[in-house]
Amino acid sequence: MSRFILHSDLNNFYASVECLYNPKIRNKAVAVVGDQEKRHGIVLAKNYIAKKYGVKTGDTIWEAKQKCKEELVLVTANFDRYYYISKLVKKVYREYTNYVESFGIDEAWLDITENVKSFSEAFELAEKIRKRIISQFGLTVSIGVSYNKIFAKLGSDLKKPNATTLITPQNYKELVWKLPVSDLLYVGKATNEKLTKAGITTIGQLAQTPCRILKSMLGKNGETLHTFANGADTTPVKKFDEKEEIKSVGNSTTCPKDLKTNEEVRAVICILSESVARRLREKNLWCSTVCLWVKTDDLKSFEVMHKIDYPTNLASTISSEAYKLFKFDWNKTIRAIGVRVCGLCEKPAQYNFFNNEQTMQKKEKFETVVDGLRGRFGYNILKRGSVCASKELAELNPEHVVHSIHPTSYFKP
Ligand SMILES: [Mg+2]
Repeated sequence: MSRFILHSDLNNFYASVECLYNPKIRNKAVAVVGDQEKRHGIVLAKNYIAKKYGVKTGDTIWEAKQKCKEELVLVTANFDRYYYISKLVKKVYREYTNYVESFGIDEAWLDITENVKSFSEAFELAEKIRKRIISQFGLTVSIGVSYNKIFAKLGSDLKKPNATTLITPQNYKELVWKLPVSDLLYVGKATNEKLTKAGITTIGQLAQTPCRILKSMLGKNGETLHTFANGADTTPVKKFDEKEEIKSVGNSTTCPKDLKTNEEVRAVICILSESVARRLREKNLWCSTVCLWVKTDDLKSFEVMHKIDYPTNLASTISSEAYKLFKFDWNKTIRAIGVRVCGLCEKPAQYNFFNNEQTMQKKEKFETVVDGLRGRFGYNILKRGSVCASKELAELNPEHVVHSIHPTSYFKP
């Protein structure tokens, strides 16, 4: 029985997302770069137009500008946006199968064996998904369809952007074997050098080299690569597990006006905490660490965090714990604030001895009712008095703020 596996890869992901948010740059050369103020000004991603001029990931901004014969639009990376969109796209994948395994922010394997009976049906489903991602998000993907994860991944690289490639037991020798060995997953620089020295430069040559020779050259890895090259990889696609995937839940916003007082900060923390708590409850998660992130008007930012005494998913607790972290001597104003929670777990066995369980349950019930009302009538149906003190702040709607749910692979560059 053949398996049917897709590997879907969002094309030029960071740059494409930036073009979505700012369509005016769509037809220009675009490079997404690290934070220039923090001197992280290297190219992290580029669109096809910039690529055409030879702009590469890792180029300094100066190098990239030199290569580009037309104006190069530089955009500072907005990671929260990318994680937000990535999460939405993967949610679509999960409508087709529970077996969705992320490979970085923009790639995922889908095992669709249970949905289809043949390669032509698998190809059709891949096409359906590809078209859906364009119409729903305005983003293109390239998809590889095959009977193992390795060839599915290779397939998604063969034709891009916006294409689907089928690699079957019948055509793999023709499609895959001519490719350079470095195209194979896990053939890094060192392995590639060793193989090249031994005269093995294509995947086909690798496949036809006796396994024991590869083993003597590369150890256990040699055996694995031999399996890969022959299409004999049997590694399963992992089942999607949201709880495992989510490491932290956070919300941040650039305030509608610069904040000047403790009360204003408290109000914004309160709004953000409500949305963080709602999302925790939605996922049936509790948190044990609360973090507060602050960016001042000179664009300097810092994050402070502390572990709380007992796991919670209550907005009132998250908000007061986050506010406790705020110690500021007001020689500057505050431009942006974020509240993030981590140390996530499922329902804790018992509440802290010092916290009356009944009181906690009452609060939880109250907040759940508020969630329900807002779900039905919109966020603005209910507001805390502390928030209404300022007209601008009262208009802040956390549901319109970019959410950041950081998957396991999250890293801050
Ligand atoms: Mg990609």
